[in-house]
Amino acid sequence: MACDVELRDLLPHLSSVLVETAETDGALIRITARTADTVPVSCPACGQPSEWEHSRYVRRVADDAIGGRPVMINVWVRRLYCENHGCAKTTFVEQVDGLLTERYQCRTPALRRVVEACAVVLAGSAAARLLTVLHQTLTLATVLNCLIRPPRSA
Ligand SMILES: [Zn+2]
Repeated sequence: MACDVELRDLLPHLSSVLVETAETDGALIRITARTADTVPVSCPACGQPSEWEHSRYVRRVADDAIGGRPVMINVWVRRLYCENHGCAKTTFVEQVDGLLTERYQCRTPALRRVVEACAVVLAGSAAARLLTVLHQTLTLATVLNCLIRPPRSA
């Protein structure tokens, strides 16, 4: 019997990107994805939509474990030129809307919430030990950083 489940149904946070590969070496699940080439993105400073690509680079985002294995998502995102000559921004990086990335974060929003909840409830080394059980190896300093980070704006 064949399995008819789509990857996007299992991992809905990947629905806004094009998944190219999903592979494992036994210890880690690595997913490679990219944003669409032809979708215009609004400049965060002036709101002018742009498709004028400057370059691409990979954002590495850790995600919740699957089947007891940590997940690393490599997302190719675009750096775009702002087409408004009066705008102060020359280039900007597209953000993958929704559930996959957040600005300046190296974890998915779902994993960030787990890490923050562990940090708040257990603090310090107890949180780091629990996160190791959850297949997320973080240092004590990283866990404590979650406690002192300013609250996120919605
Ligand atoms: Zn702009």
